[in-house]
Amino acid sequence: MSENGYLLELHNVSQVYGSGERRFTAIKDFNLTLKEGEFAALLGPTGCGKSTLLRIISGLQVPTAGQVMYRSRPLVGVNPHATIVFQTFALFPWLTVQENVEVALKARGVPAKLRATRALDLLDRVGLDGFENAYPRELSGGMLQKVGFARAMAVEPELLCLDEPFSALDVLSAEALRGELLELWTSGKIPTRAILLVTHNIDEAVFMADRIVVMEKDPGRVILDLKVDLPHPRQRKNSQFLELVDKVYAILAGQTQPEHVELGTAPGEPGRTRSLPHITINDLTGLLEHLGEMPGNRTDIYRLADGLKINPDYFLSLIEAAELLGFATIAHGDITLTPLGDTFAEAGILARKGIFATRIRRLPLFKWLMTLLNAADKKQLEWDVVQTALELEFHEEEAERQLDTAIDWGRYAEILAYDDGSQVLYLEPAA
Ligand code: ADP
Ligand code: MG
Repeated sequence: MSENGYLLELHNVSQVYGSGERRFTAIKDFNLTLKEGEFAALLGPTGCGKSTLLRIISGLQVPTAGQVMYRSRPLVGVNPHATIVFQTFALFPWLTVQENVEVALKARGVPAKLRATRALDLLDRVGLDGFENAYPRELSGGMLQKVGFARAMAVEPELLCLDEPFSALDVLSAEALRGELLELWTSGKIPTRAILLVTHNIDEAVFMADRIVVMEKDPGRVILDLKVDLPHPRQRKNSQFLELVDKVYAILAGQTQPEHVELGTAPGEPGRTRSLPHITINDLTGLLEHLGEMPGNRTDIYRLADGLKINPDYFLSLIEAAELLGFATIAHGDITLTPLGDTFAEAGILARKGIFATRIRRLPLFKWLMTLLNAADKKQLEWDVVQTALELEFHEEEAERQLDTAIDWGRYAEILAYDDGSQVLYLEPAA
């Protein structure tokens, strides 16, 4: 144990890149401490300095300013106790899976006769039993990443740094590997004392970490440090889990108004039912990506409208949708991407769907629709029935358009399905 209980301490770390006119501050006055036993997730938009931080922490890079302490001592040179697992792992193509792991064991000073057994054991633990003699080119992305994990584990790092390790994997492999890692971590089968996981996936952070640190960019800094006090294994449908996911989303979305004011009420309830703006996800995504390229993720609304050259009414609907979903805020004629909007714009297709699903579930109109479907026989309803119900709130034509938009969004989020032939609406099994 180090003197103050901290494994890692970053004090006022800053990183400046480039020189002259190109000089810019990537990270400014960054503070972070990590205790033994902690699993922290680091969330933040691309370019906020996450990878830079991991390099600084592992001693691969010396920051421009500030101090890095490891076990209460200033870090000098490469940190032999830290390992980074990257999004994609470079394996030696001419070595088998087992040999790739043995190389790491050798570097670690494990005697030759123990290496084979240890390598096989590690491969077994990450679920690669039976693939010992395969070559990297024979493996899928998920399996390659498992070899990467096995190799990182072989080094028995005290501090395990993970740089978006699951983002290049398909859904099932990612989920399996998350489970394997959590099992190794919570069972204490590995000597790792702390984990720092960089991710774009909010759900993944709440599922795995004990603490969530959210960063902003320009310059990279901490805007939130939240404790996740839930026992493992965590249930994604548990109400406390959902509350936490919601909280992180709300902070990222920069929600300022109480929810009922911001989101309106459901059909049939007193108060105003907030209608869904009629926009396509594709256009919304385009707008958010465009905003993400602006300095400070902010711009004048009218300049933006000019630059995009689209119908002004449609443009306003896009902005309304971005605001309703917590992806952007509007003040004094400026539109600014929220950290959530930025995360969405930078994320891959699956993470985007996840973020979108979480957001629309909070909309009263969707909550109402899902309750209706859940209560229905076989969890399905005819289009006409839903439209008639919506007509309590909207005139006929608008009710139809609301339902069209809801189906479009719900399909994208993989919450709802709609069969055109039978004109039946139903819930996706996982929803
Ligand atoms: P993240 O991992 O959060 O996407 P990075 O740490 O990769 O962020 O990068 C932070 C910022 O620093 C980015 O603007 C990036 O372009 C810049 N950057 C990173 N590494 C270098 C480098 N070696 N030289 C110059 N700029 C860099
Ligand atoms: Mg990075």
